[in-house]
Amino acid sequence: MTLAPTHKILFEPVKIGPKVAKNRFYQVPHCNGMGHRWPRTMAEMRGVKAEGGWGVVCTEECSIHPTSDLTPATLMRLWDDSDLPVHQLMIDKVHEHGALAGIQLVHNGQSVSNYLTRMPTMAPSAAPNEASNSTQARAMDKEDIRTLRRWFREAALRSRRAGYDIVYVYAAHGIMTLLYQFLLTRYNQRTDEYGGSLENRVRLVREVLEDTKDAIGHDTAVAFRFAVDELMGENGMHAAEAEDIVGSLAEIPDLWDVNVADWGNDSLPSRFGVEGAQADYIRFVKNLTTKPVVGVGRFTSPDTMVSQIKRGVLDMIGAARPSIADPFLPSKIEQGRVDEIRECIGCNMCTTGDYIAYPMRCTQNPTMGEEWRKGWHPEKITSATSNDNVLVLGGGPAGLEAALALSNRSYDVTLADASHDLGGRVLQETALTPLVQWKRVSDFRSYMLSTRANVQTFTQSRMDADNVFELGCNHIAVATGSKWRTDFQGLHHREPVAHEYLTMILSPEAIMGGHAPEGRVMIFDDDHYYLGSALAEHLAMTGADVVLVTPAAEVSGWTHFTLEYEHIQVRLRKLGVQIICNHAIHSVGDGYVDVACVFSENTQRIEARSVVPVTARISEDTVYQKLINRRSEWADHGIKTVTLIGDSLAPGTIAMAVYAGHQFARELEAPVDRDMPFRRENDFDTTRSWPEFKA
Ligand code: ADP
Ligand code: SF4
Repeated sequence: MTLAPTHKILFEPVKIGPKVAKNRFYQVPHCNGMGHRWPRTMAEMRGVKAEGGWGVVCTEECSIHPTSDLTPATLMRLWDDSDLPVHQLMIDKVHEHGALAGIQLVHNGQSVSNYLTRMPTMAPSAAPNEASNSTQARAMDKEDIRTLRRWFREAALRSRRAGYDIVYVYAAHGIMTLLYQFLLTRYNQRTDEYGGSLENRVRLVREVLEDTKDAIGHDTAVAFRFAVDELMGENGMHAAEAEDIVGSLAEIPDLWDVNVADWGNDSLPSRFGVEGAQADYIRFVKNLTTKPVVGVGRFTSPDTMVSQIKRGVLDMIGAARPSIADPFLPSKIEQGRVDEIRECIGCNMCTTGDYIAYPMRCTQNPTMGEEWRKGWHPEKITSATSNDNVLVLGGGPAGLEAALALSNRSYDVTLADASHDLGGRVLQETALTPLVQWKRVSDFRSYMLSTRANVQTFTQSRMDADNVFELGCNHIAVATGSKWRTDFQGLHHREPVAHEYLTMILSPEAIMGGHAPEGRVMIFDDDHYYLGSALAEHLAMTGADVVLVTPAAEVSGWTHFTLEYEHIQVRLRKLGVQIICNHAIHSVGDGYVDVACVFSENTQRIEARSVVPVTARISEDTVYQKLINRRSEWADHGIKTVTLIGDSLAPGTIAMAVYAGHQFARELEAPVDRDMPFRRENDFDTTRSWPEFKA
């Protein structure tokens, strides 16, 4: 297989100031929850992307000074020379594969906690602090501005010394960057030459760009990341102002990296937008500058990428999420293996790493974050050491991924599923309109399995223990999933709500299977991630009268971390869904439900003819338990191991199920230390001996 002629344009080199990128694939800066705390994890992850063909690989945002302290988030820092070794780890990995390394320098102004450094926060004008309640940022005076410019200059020089090829000046993502705060009237109410007119508000950005060019521009490229629209009309950055800004700074940077703000609009979840959703906002930039322009849009289709370039929207194809879901996306296009691209589904599980401060994970790519720690490579896997065969029972995300990775290890695999089609919960959930793009999880794996000679797939094949014994495979992975409870037991109601249910109780599976609820429908969401609101959204879109009740203070609270939260709130309200927070089930009557305030004895009666509890799931492990109970018969049927994985072991996210399937495949017949299954980044002196104590 070879590069399709129509995709050749993607592999043209691009000049970025004094540097040349080998192709148009540009991994824009993106957070990862690894940063300075897990530097080897971070460096290996970036290195794998360079290996996968990205012409440019950038860091996440990198704080230039202790007054921009994002604790507890785990990002990059360049506060003094002691930070350099962390950067060099990454730069070496990126350069090893011929990619350019970029760094996104930032001061976050009033959008920091400074929990670690305990320094007062700074802003264009005095204002409440975004990242730490009940504290305020002080207004910067002229001396502060001069000092800030010096910090940026010193950080640029340090970046160049470290070996970076591209250094960013960063004014995007709304409140998150100080330079953007200066551009916006709602944060900048200064009356001096840095506030008021657009020319004044742009002054600091221009100075920092010019300072950076002056300091390092002779041999290092300077990129400018700028959000051209905040999608809030004239209350925020909008086209008219953005055009003036781009026009006035047009030729100063060596590259324009443009997007929309805030982060939730930039990394738009697939529930709220399609591939290339930013094109209409950013396309004007190329008309105003001769410098290369990069932008993002969850690009996974090479045809769409080519069209962005040919239509004059972009010069370089920017990607954060598509490079996470498939670090080898450029290589696959170059080798004509487009069908093998593991396309990002836009679920934003990856962004939770930044918010919760842990090394990010990806629903589509189970090796993400495990490249260094476990030595998992997205495209390489150790071959099987025996001729054993494997039965995978259940074709949900866990079973599909297990079967695919086992096939990659050259095991002969039998995959059996009770349903008509493969996909398990993914297939069910993607029947809901909001989640339709997540089907890529099962589509990708089902397609890949169909190309494998060593995989036999049986659908409509419900298996019991006898069937498993008859098949007589050596290893059995049981990935039979889970079912939603319908008795309201969950996080809030720790036991079933024991009542005679006169109103129709429907499981989430029933709704996903197309069962139309009768009359007014209540969703009781005690799961707090996406499903409760997705069911409400789906039903409201089909014309149902929906009320969503939750014991939490907000709907779909965990989606703060996936950037879906605000979009969900807006959409539910637009669809007329009634929302009742801080309430749980008191009793279910005939055509109504009494709900009780979680803080008081107060109850209220809500009319509802159907109720859908989204509370907790029960693992479906019947076959597994039967096999365990008949362990004495295994040897007669050639069975060596039986392992329960995915939701049938412990219900969780789709990302967890995919990971569990992959882990099973990697670790089958492989030596794994179950007590400490990964490398740790402890840099302490371990040669010191410790006194022994007798227990
Ligand atoms: P996970 O998220 O762990 O992959 P899912 O619930 O998505 O779990 O998928 C479980 C799959 O297992 C479903 O497609 C279901 O049809 C299948 N399944 C459950 N029990 C059996 C069984 N006894 N035999 C065959 N397939 C089964
Ligand atoms: Fe895409 Fe989801 Fe993976 Fe993020 S976690 S890269 S959104 S598939």
